[in-house]
Amino acid sequence: MEKGLKKKNIKKYWFSIESYVHISLKRNLLLLYNTLSGKALEYTFSTNEELKIFLLFKKLQSEKNLRVICLTENDLQDPMISGIVNDTRKFYMSELIDINCSKGKPVQMNPEVTIVKDIDKLKNEYNRSGGEEIVKYLSEISLYLNNTCSLNCSICSVAYKQFSCCTMRENKNKILNIENIQNLLYYLIGASLRNINILGGDIFAYPGFENLITILNNIKVKKTIYSHYFNFPDRIEKLKSIDPRSSLIKILIPYPLIQERLEKVFNLITHTPINYEFIFIIQGEQDYYVAEEVVKAMQIPHYSYQPFFNGENLEFFKENIFITKDDILLSRPKMRDIYVNTVINKLNFGRLTIFNNGDIYSNVNESKLGVLGKNSIHEVLYKELIHSKSWRKVRRNLKPCKNCIFQSLCPPMNNYNYAIGKNDLCNVFS
Ligand code: SF4
Ligand code: SF4
Repeated sequence: MEKGLKKKNIKKYWFSIESYVHISLKRNLLLLYNTLSGKALEYTFSTNEELKIFLLFKKLQSEKNLRVICLTENDLQDPMISGIVNDTRKFYMSELIDINCSKGKPVQMNPEVTIVKDIDKLKNEYNRSGGEEIVKYLSEISLYLNNTCSLNCSICSVAYKQFSCCTMRENKNKILNIENIQNLLYYLIGASLRNINILGGDIFAYPGFENLITILNNIKVKKTIYSHYFNFPDRIEKLKSIDPRSSLIKILIPYPLIQERLEKVFNLITHTPINYEFIFIIQGEQDYYVAEEVVKAMQIPHYSYQPFFNGENLEFFKENIFITKDDILLSRPKMRDIYVNTVINKLNFGRLTIFNNGDIYSNVNESKLGVLGKNSIHEVLYKELIHSKSWRKVRRNLKPCKNCIFQSLCPPMNNYNYAIGKNDLCNVFS
């Protein structure tokens, strides 16, 4: 009787973690990240005593509890439990409600729902509909028109695997058939295509260049045209047919940089209504300073820097490209970004590249998905979505990121990961 009375007097509380708080529990590490304020709390559990916090969060995360558990007065007298309860309450990450003031267990929406939930249903849909629906996922297509070029850049066989860049890739003079391009683009207009990238070789040497521009002008999506500044035409006539409202020309500038030529291109492009951007392909700090001076001297308004990994400039990448914990947190990922990062690679998702010989890739660093003219776009997209070489390449499946509490906050894998041969271009653990 006495025992029963004591039990009744113990106060109980519902402890809940807010739905906008991201919880990441890996090995002996816990991260709580408030997606509204950007506040992050990190805990490391190294003693058996601290493990009870780990178990408490496991319990909170279970499907049965959906981020709400009962804590007793006695639990809250434990300094470790009360410490984390106080921390999380202080930063608006949790609530502690007296059970007597609540009609029942509070309901928390479990945020672990997939944003692209249809992907795994695709097998059935593909069989039923022939995959028509899949095309809606395609948002950007890069077309390599040709591989003809009279230049001889040292970066030619490698740079295109790191960022959008022209290449001669294979030494066969093949061009992408203009009828195949037209059929493909007209077919995709009704879908969700938003960007078309045009690359070569030297695109201005493509035999059907003017006809292609006419086709592109009829398609009301954004077009980005890439050209090395030495391949840029000397006469304005060649550029006149490009629709300035929907097109952007990206002028690639590998080193050594010849300022005289750059000035010529700059004078020409600024006498057209076309939008442009100068892309300085830099391999080290010296390249950056040279570009900075040229930009200042010529007063170039639209430019950016594109780092190139040459196998010997890892230190440059470590200092300028590798991310830190602060970079991740300062980017203030929202809950939506976090869900997306667990399911898809948003840098790669929706993108296809077609080379001048028709080879189709979702990422040029992965294996070929098909050939234009032989395989339908449905087949190619189905293959990518189901076998997921690139579009669904996410950190939670890759070492060492799969063991990192920042895996869903961290920017997606990019092509520098392939080039450097490391999934973790960060100094989070160093
Ligand atoms: S301009 Fe482009 S395609 Fe030509 S050699 Fe240089 S990188 Fe290769
Ligand atoms: S790159 Fe990988 S290991 Fe580094 S912070 Fe991101 S998820 Fe963690």
